[in-house]
Amino acid sequence: MSLRLFNTLSRKIEEFKPLNPPKVGIYACGPTVYDFIHLGNLRSFIFYDLLRRTLTANNFEVQFVENITDIEDKIIKRALEKDITPEELTKEYTKYFNQDTNQLNILTPNVQPKATEHIGKMIKYIEKLLEKGLAYQEKDGSVYFDISKFLNYGKLSGLQNRELKTGTRILSDEYSKDDAQDFALWKAVESDEYGWDSPWGKGRPGWHIECSVMSQEYLGDTFDIHTGGIDLIFPHHENEIAQAEGHSGQKFVNYFVHAEHLLVDGKKMSKSLNNFYTLRDIEERGFEPLAFRYLTLTAHYRDKLNFTWESLEAAQQALNNIREEIRGWELPVGPEERPKEPVAQFWQKFLEAASYDLNMPQAVAVMHQLLRLDTPTASKSATILKMDQILGLNLDQYLGKTLEISDDVQKLLTIREKARNNQDFKEADKLRVEIKKLGYEIEDNPTGPKLKKL
Ligand code: AMP
Ligand code: ZN
Repeated sequence: MSLRLFNTLSRKIEEFKPLNPPKVGIYACGPTVYDFIHLGNLRSFIFYDLLRRTLTANNFEVQFVENITDIEDKIIKRALEKDITPEELTKEYTKYFNQDTNQLNILTPNVQPKATEHIGKMIKYIEKLLEKGLAYQEKDGSVYFDISKFLNYGKLSGLQNRELKTGTRILSDEYSKDDAQDFALWKAVESDEYGWDSPWGKGRPGWHIECSVMSQEYLGDTFDIHTGGIDLIFPHHENEIAQAEGHSGQKFVNYFVHAEHLLVDGKKMSKSLNNFYTLRDIEERGFEPLAFRYLTLTAHYRDKLNFTWESLEAAQQALNNIREEIRGWELPVGPEERPKEPVAQFWQKFLEAASYDLNMPQAVAVMHQLLRLDTPTASKSATILKMDQILGLNLDQYLGKTLEISDDVQKLLTIREKARNNQDFKEADKLRVEIKKLGYEIEDNPTGPKLKKL
């Protein structure tokens, strides 16, 4: 089976061919750690995880690198407001970031490089860009990339609707989406400001340079996949390409893959619009983090997804239903047990959907078909577990497990069974309602009643 991905470079769905199969290198733009991340960010991080898991299911050996942006204007500002050091601030929020992603069953990156641990490498990298005439130094000690010197500038994002302003510069980490400008590689700072010494005086690196340096450091000058949210296409990834290809003289990345946004009331969920929720917010309202993971599976990653509490409620319910469906199913005999027909074709269809540009809504639909398939449950279990290797819903915690019910409920259930045996269906129905009030739905099967948690 082949894996296909929509490549932003060609704007087409392409067959994925890694440079050195079965190895695959992925670099993902990680969080800026100055606050809790929100569900919008998490939609992108879940997408990265699905991409990684789908590659693994296709027998690729993935090296997954995701950076931590621990130096940036917002970090410095927030640390000053809180009267703590930037290190203290970023350490704390890196910890929370890792907690949040763990709760969502997002696999830990193979490498999680921090920008502040690569300053020396960034300085060397900028020196080479200066030597090659692709960058220039200003009187204040800042260094800029000269986009007019890089002929391929704009190949990722297209510059049709943007004004190319060479010679005008942007120093801030907040970039305009409308202008293509020379951008800071190194930003000069005052002697009492937070920064590092460099050949150009005290300063700190620009945001874009960190990703070129760290991705190439861990994956080589040219690597397979670079991913991020679509807001990163321009200018961040465009600038990364300019830096990296300018530096090495070789192609930077073969596949750029970008995830669409999570919206609220039709607008991008973001800190600046103050329309965001964190994982803590949804937990406070009684939802599980994994319900949010399930919700993101219901939309294709290249489609916008509008967040509402109703949709999260529906996702939690759908997840609960799956769990109750598989609870008590017998576990596969061995992990390698090969499913036989008719179950085998469901795995095939599932993997095909996931491998065709990560069509997760389709893949989840195939899983639901398998759940409903009228065949002994033991033969379906192994396939459900395999599907969950990609979906990451922790279904192994429910398969083969019995539902723990209180003595009260058990008593009512026994009385109801007696009533049913005596053909007293009125009494049985009354008890069904009582049991429901205690939080359980009864499903009467030929093998006996099965309880499902509501
Ligand atoms: P940041 O910490 O702002 O650099 O963002 C980390 C990741 O989250 C990046 O890949 C962004 O593109 C992504 N992101 C930010 N906002 C959203 C959103 N509303 N929906 C999906 N992804 C987002
Ligand atoms: Zn980045």
